[in-house]
Parts: sequence; structure tokens; C-alpha cells
Amino acid sequence: MKCLICKKALTYRLTIKDLLWPDKISFPVICPQCQQGFAKIGAGRCPGCGRPKEAAMLCAECQAWQEKYGWHLKHRALYRYNDAMKAFMQQYKFNGDYMMRHVFHDEFVQAIQAAKADRVVPIPVTPTTMKTRGFNQVGGLLTGVKITECLQTRQKSKQAQSKKTRQERLATKQPFCLVDDCQLVDQTVLLVDDVYTTGRTLYHAAALIHKAGAREVISISLAR
Ligand SMILES: [Zn+2]
Ligand SMILES: [Zn+2]
Repeated sequence: MKCLICKKALTYRLTIKDLLWPDKISFPVICPQCQQGFAKIGAGRCPGCGRPKEAAMLCAECQAWQEKYGWHLKHRALYRYNDAMKAFMQQYKFNGDYMMRHVFHDEFVQAIQAAKADRVVPIPVTPTTMKTRGFNQVGGLLTGVKITECLQTRQKSKQAQSKKTRQERLATKQPFCLVDDCQLVDQTVLLVDDVYTTGRTLYHAAALIHKAGAREVISISLAR
């Protein structure tokens, strides 16, 4: 096995536990040096957007969302969007290296299962992105999880968010619609995205899901 990121050979030493429960072994897919580049977000975070923060109070941005909508997201992100994470996303999304989905898959799925939501709803990509990239990067992280694809993009293609300024991102119009018959009444819904940037995308999605009668909408992303 080679590290999925730097391609150096990986070594793994079996522990006694591995010998006792060989079916539970989870072999690493990246090396310890590459692992070190990623920064986990710990317990100190904003309860709204999940940004690392000492006091567990809503940050100014989340207070602004609260004012706009009358509710705020309860978002959790596993990692900071630092240089290592940017390089990872570049390789995974923009270079379309689908193998990269394995790097965080198990950890991400565990966090999703821990949230115990009735429905897991991935943020969709446009048909054009699907055609050029060949996959939905959010779906790739969710392999093996039962998902409800109740969101659709209204436009065939979109201007890449990554090329927009913060102001332009915040001014983005509702990009989604709900598919018919998604039955969200009284459900706890977990929205899933790859990166939380301004929150604009998730708030658009959450607003539709609230409107459809969901009891609670929470969200998670790999990075923030
Ligand atoms: Zn490596
Ligand atoms: Zn916040």
C-alpha cells in the first residue's frame, strides 16, 4: 500500500487487538507525515458554524444568519480548511482523483452516524459538474451511508464558488429545489457538504428543508 497523498510506501504494524479481531482492522491510507498536515477541530467551536473558538457562543456571522432566518444552523466541521486540506480538495475535486475519498471516509461516516439523524441529505452538484468531474465529491465521502437525495440544483451549471469573493458568495440566489415526494415532515435532517465557507449554500438548502416540514436541520462538513 502507498500513501494516497505523497505515494510513499505505508507500513502498518499489527497489534494484538488486530490479531484477535482481524475483520476490524482499519489500515491507514495515508502516512503519519501527511496526517500531521491536517488540523482537527476540537471541542471549542461556534455552535452555529463550527469554527474553532474558545467560548461556545454564536459568532458574529451566525448571529447575522439568526437575524436573517430566525434560526441558525448547528454545523460541525471535522477539520480546518488549512493548506493540507486545500491541497486535498484540489486533488480530490478539481483533479478528480476519486481514490482520495478514502482518506477521510471512515472518520466522516462515523461522525455522520453519531449524529443519529433520520435523513442524511448530501448537497448536490450541478449536472455539468457531474459530467466533467464524474462524481459528487460529497457522495464519495458517503459511500455505504443511506442517503436521501431530495435536493436538486436549479441550474445546469454554476459559476465556481471558489472563484467568487465573499460578498458575491453571500449574494448567491437559491440554487436548489426539492424533488417531489421527499417526505421530510417531522424528520431530523443532516445536511452534508464537503467545505463550509460562508454558510450560504447550506442555509439555502436548510431553508427549503425547514419549509418542507422538517423538525430539525443540522449539518456537517469535512472542512471549515
Ligand atoms: Zn504521505
Ligand atoms: Zn458561527
